[in-house]
Amino acid sequence: MAVGTLATVKSLDPVDLREIGAQMILGNAYHLHLRPGDELIRDFGGLHRFMGWDGPILTDSGGFQVFSLEGLRTVSENGVEFRSHIDGSKHVFTPESVMQIERNLGADVIMQFDHVIPGQSEEAKARDASERSVRWLARCVAALDALRRGGPPPTTNLRDLPPLPGTTFPLPAPSHPQALFPIVQGGIHPQLRREAARAIRSIGDFHGFGIGGLSVGEAKPDMYRMLEVADAELPRDRPRYLMGVGFPEDLVEGVLRGVDLFDCVAPTRMGRNGAAFTNDGRLNIKRAEFRTDPRPLDEGCDCAACRRFSRGYIRHLFTSDEILGLRLLSLHNVHFLVRLMRDARAAIRAGTIDAWARDWLARYHANTRPVSTA
Ligand SMILES: [Zn+2]
Repeated sequence: MAVGTLATVKSLDPVDLREIGAQMILGNAYHLHLRPGDELIRDFGGLHRFMGWDGPILTDSGGFQVFSLEGLRTVSENGVEFRSHIDGSKHVFTPESVMQIERNLGADVIMQFDHVIPGQSEEAKARDASERSVRWLARCVAALDALRRGGPPPTTNLRDLPPLPGTTFPLPAPSHPQALFPIVQGGIHPQLRREAARAIRSIGDFHGFGIGGLSVGEAKPDMYRMLEVADAELPRDRPRYLMGVGFPEDLVEGVLRGVDLFDCVAPTRMGRNGAAFTNDGRLNIKRAEFRTDPRPLDEGCDCAACRRFSRGYIRHLFTSDEILGLRLLSLHNVHFLVRLMRDARAAIRAGTIDAWARDWLARYHANTRPVSTA
């Protein structure tokens, strides 16, 4: 999933995303609740219409963001009280209020409100947060049921809105059922992960499952081990979503362990810092060696940036602080990950995923030093 936290995939138009082949966009309930406000988005006919994207959207509940506000929040069994990072105003998120926010936003997949803790948390702390997340899931299920029984959210009547050019709008977006995904927590403790997965499955029959609390400071081998535990516990015919993980090597390692969905701000954030993903590792376009380089960013890539522009030109855009430079790199990086997953799906269908992943990882790592050796 391309990440559009604030109802935009930074610097990319939905038309670009369609052309790239992106299938689903991620938005964030915490950010959109604070600005511009979920009720405002509801009155625009929901997030799809507001941002001009007629494909699927998933909204994260904001648990990760709220729990990242160290010192600005208070946790209780009821929920979390926090101050906005924008203006310091006071807010309370509970499982019930978050379901109302995600209902207003109208995404196709909505994540439960969960208690997120740092990656290396000791077992007692991880258990407390994981068990609270399961209790909050039960409250999310009840709250969403009540909202559904109340009918579709009171949105502006979509028929009264003019069709958006180039899209299939108006969509019945806000009245569709919305799939609630639970989130398996448990830190880096296999037994807690197992217990969380079983407790979640005892609450309901969900369309898909989030795997949360990973890539938050723990070592990579710990993350991989937790994915293997989740793989064994979750139904094989439902998508598993590894939250907040999106570097190319993590995607391939995740696919090998049964993960279907990923998101990460890496492609656009890295792009804005001048880093391009290639099959031979990362390339930093700001380096002097690219000043006279006529080749595209990645010679095997057919994205709009690589088809039309040289490394030398894109480097020039970066050193001149021209916005086209970061747009082109974001375009290339999102395209790279979309194509990587397309290749992985083809390898799964062909029954060659293990060999494909081994070869891909060997080539990628041959030229890339790991970011962290932790
Ligand atoms: Zn490209």
